Amino acid sequence: AKKGKTPEEVLKKYLQKVRHPPDEDCTICMERLAAPSGYKGPQPTVKPDLVGKLSKCGHIYHLHCLVAMYNNGNKGPEHPNPGKSFTARGFPRHCYLPDSEKGRKVLKLLLVAWDRRLIFAVGTSSTTGESDTVIWNEVHHKTEFGSNLTGHGYPDANYLDNVLAELAAQGIAEDSAGL
Ligand code: NAD
Ligand code: ZN
Repeated sequence: AKKGKTPEEVLKKYLQKVRHPPDEDCTICMERLAAPSGYKGPQPTVKPDLVGKLSKCGHIYHLHCLVAMYNNGNKGPEHPNPGKSFTARGFPRHCYLPDSEKGRKVLKLLLVAWDRRLIFAVGTSSTTGESDTVIWNEVHHKTEFGSNLTGHGYPDANYLDNVLAELAAQGIAEDSAGL
């Protein structure tokens, strides 16, 4: 099985090297950015004096601190059994939204959720009981059109509000999509 990217490889995509760190603290370890990282973790994989700037938000941290935070984060495992092969059933999956202002807003936020890898997970399907398979994550989708035999169809007067709340619970609010 192909090994996933290392935390350093993932982080590098979002980082610019800072050669002359500003006279500020790293808010992860609370040491000065110009001093080495104060984080004493197991087996440092990057030099403790490297400093990086996150390109989207501009925040600056020790690279070593970012790697430690990434490894400790509550991101959750992307696969409960890393390295084990997994299946994907019923793809492509099709979902339906009303072509209304709110429906279009939900669509934009779902695209943000997709980009953040939050729509699907690998796990055990509660429908089929199959393990190591791609399943919907915490955000509900309407996969039935014109009827509601599965319970995943319309009408459902609360769906758009519910899915907006589910998206918000994943950290995706209306301002995430520049709305
Ligand atoms: P699951 O059963 O592990 O449940 C995870 C979440 O998905 C739950 O919140 C559940 O309510 C929701 N969910 C379950 N079935 C759904 C459905 N048909 N449409 C929308 N949401 C659904 O999830 P899973 O294993 O990813 O999906 C359940 C089964 O439905 C799978 O066997 C899959 O193949 C099948 N499915 C088929 C299609 C299709 O277009 N033919 C689309 C979606 C899902
Ligand atoms: Zn630090």
